[in-house]
This record gives sequence, structure tokens and C-alpha cells, in this order.
Amino acid sequence: MKNAKSCLELVQESEERFRIIAENSLFGMFLYQEYFIYVNQAFADMTGYSIQELLKMHPWDLVDEKNKIKFKQLVQRRIAGEMFSSVHNDALLIRKNEELLHIKISVETVRYKESYAGMGIAIDISDIMKKNQVIKVLIQALSQSDDIVFITNVQGNILYVNNALVNIYGYTEEEVLGQTPRVFKSGKQDDAFYKELWEKILSGKNYHQVIINRKKNGELIYADTKITPVENETTKEIEYFVVNARDITSRIKSEEKLKQLATIDPLTQIPNRYQINECFDEFIARKERIGQPFSVLIFDIDHFKKINDTYGHPLGDFVLKSFSRLVMENIRLVDKFGRWGGEEFLLLLDGTGEHEAMRIGQKLNTLVAEASFGNICITVSVGVTEYRDNDTKEQCLNRADNALYAAKNLGRNRVVFN
Ligand code: GH3
Ligand code: MG
Ligand code: MG
Repeated sequence: MKNAKSCLELVQESEERFRIIAENSLFGMFLYQEYFIYVNQAFADMTGYSIQELLKMHPWDLVDEKNKIKFKQLVQRRIAGEMFSSVHNDALLIRKNEELLHIKISVETVRYKESYAGMGIAIDISDIMKKNQVIKVLIQALSQSDDIVFITNVQGNILYVNNALVNIYGYTEEEVLGQTPRVFKSGKQDDAFYKELWEKILSGKNYHQVIINRKKNGELIYADTKITPVENETTKEIEYFVVNARDITSRIKSEEKLKQLATIDPLTQIPNRYQINECFDEFIARKERIGQPFSVLIFDIDHFKKINDTYGHPLGDFVLKSFSRLVMENIRLVDKFGRWGGEEFLLLLDGTGEHEAMRIGQKLNTLVAEASFGNICITVSVGVTEYRDNDTKEQCLNRADNALYAAKNLGRNRVVFN
């Protein structure tokens, strides 16, 4: 009798323990045959029905139309005694208000009162699913972006690349995953450039710079690159780098082209008026800073109209090109020679005073007179001056111009100093 009582007590204790666990659990717990036999409060909360309402319902009443029959068959197999367990990582439960709830559910067949039942646990995963959904959309957005996007860990190993990277760089995903961005390195930027990059991002700062990379086929690509370090929410240590880059190669190329157009005379391929003016300013600055002298020579081809009239404009062009080349070949690298306009040219002689300037003017004047450009012979008049203390550019140019005018008046093909 004593034993029987203690047995009952044991059962009561065990039931009490189960009740405490089940009623306080965050997991939904249930037991069912044709109808729910037991549900805990957490499960009732998930469904939106009361415990009493659920106990009058079939388990498949909580499943959408499409899966109802399949689920009913599953329930019936359990009731018939088939022992199996099943886990659904993303099942949909229809709540009383007809909303859908994402749950993870695990059910197995258990013995119950001489027969069989299904016993299960359900976890509300709607928060996770919502986050997953957002992540899915983000990944889709990244994969469709025209911008190159890749993600690395803190060591720089590539963990993710988007379609734009694959398409633009010409590598497959497999070829770059696990590699570091060094595979894209062109060698066009020095070690100091990359050192600065790493120092910046490892200190947690955003980085924005144009990086010159190389595609798989060897072509260079100018990538306007932003790198964002991503910290671990709890440890605050950098875990990832998100790299976002735009291919600006064509823009850079056209800028380079424009810059060249802006500084080089397209016919003679020597500096244009704008560029030689810039050089003039630099020479003046140097003269004022360290007293470095320089001289200015203006060249004007004699009777050039006649050349055009006699041989035609294209041959006139040819003479201008040939003349430019001849002068370029006979001056030093430090000297600057440019097209001042039409058939007028300006020569700046670095570190050169008036006597030396006259000598060089004479030398070039003779070289031109003795040259023959495809059987066409020309002469040139030259005005020479030296840049003086307290001069202005205008005063200096005026003197050179006056010297040239004098050379013309004196019969051309000569060098005059002023
Ligand atoms: P002068 O001895 O007095 O300098 O006589 P000139 O005939 O050279 O006279 P001027 O300097 O006034 O004439 C310049 C000529 O150069 C007029 C123009 O047709 C020609 N010219 C200017 N630019 C070009 C060019 O790009 N190509 C060609 N073929 N001719 C040019
Ligand atoms: Mg002229
Ligand atoms: Mg002329």
C-alpha cells in the first residue's frame, strides 16, 4: 500500500515537473491524434486560438489547403502506429486570424494510452525568416548592381563577389573566392599606396580612392573604390570589409585624352600656346625663387603665305610639322618649345642668358635655312630677349615681339636681340 502510494506520488511529481516545463516553455508543445489532445500555452499563443479551441481541432486545421491532405496522411500513419520522426525547418502555420506564421517543427510518434499519438515541439521562426527575407533581397540587389561589390574577412580573403565583379574582371566566382584582392593588383600603384589603404581600414575608417586594377585578360581598370570595415556587434572588432567599386576607366581615359588635347598642339604634337604659357609661368617662378635666368625666342616663318599658296595647305602643314621636329631635335630637354599660333613659335631656354640665347637662335636659324622639307625650303625670323629682373611676362613678350618685328623689317631670315 505504502509502495503504491509512493508510486502515485512519483507519477504526480513527474506530472508536476512536466506541467511546469510545458507551461513555462517558449516552445510550443502539443500532442495529437485525430484531435489535439494536449497543447501548451506557448503553442496556443502561436496559433492565436485558446487551448480549449485547439482541443476541438484537428492538427491539419492549422495547415494551408495545399498541404492539408499530405499532413492528414502523416497524422494517420502515426495514429496507426508507424514510428518515425520528422523535422520541418520552415513550416507554415495558419493562425486564427488567417495570418501565416513560419515555424520550425519537430514531431515524432509516441505510445499513448494503448495507442499512438504525434508529439511535437514548434518554434516561432518568423523573426529569422523576416531577416532571411531581407538578406535574400539584399543579395539579389547586390548581384544585380552595376557596381562591383565584394566582401572579405579581416585578413582580406574574399567571401563574396557579385555578378558585376565576375563580368567586369572576367574571373569566375570559384577563381576569386578565398583569394585576396591581390589577384586584381596591377602594379601601377606602389607599396606605400596599399600600406596607407590597409592602415586606414584596419583602424576602422572608411576608405575612398581610385585603385588601378588588372582584369584577368590583362587590361587595366580604374576602380573608384569605397571600402567599409564591418565590426562585430558585440566584440566591436573588425570582421569584414565591404568593397564597393565603380569602373571609371572610360572616364579616366577621356579625361587623359582631353588633358592631352588641352596641352598638345594636334598638328605639330608639341606644346600648345596654353602649355607653353604654363611653362613660361614656371620659368618666371624659378627665376624669382632662385634667380635662375632664362631667355625667350619668338620664331615666325618667313613668307609662309607663299608656301601655302605655292604648294597647298597640306604641304604647308607638313612644313610646320617638319620645322617643329627640327627645332625639337636641336634643343635640350630642359628647354621648352611650343606653338604660339599659326606659324609662330615660342622657345624658352632654361638657365640661358642673352649671349647664349643669341647663339642658339643663330644656330636654329641656320639649321632651318639649310634644311629642306620634302624639297621645300624656308627661312625663319627670330626675336630674342632675356627675362629681366622685375620683368613681367607681357613686357618680356613685347620685347621679343619687337625684336621679331625688327628682324622682319631688316629683311627676314635673321635673329635680332632686344
Ligand atoms: P611673314 O614673313 O611676314 O611672316 O609672312 P607670312 O606669309 O608668314 O605672313 P603671316 O605670318 O601673316 O602669315 C601666316 C600664314 O600662315 C597665314 C596662314 O594661312 C598660315 N597658317 C597659319 N596656320 C596654318 C596652319 O596650321 N597650316 C598652314 N598650312 N598654314 C597656316
Ligand atoms: Mg605670322
Ligand atoms: Mg610668317
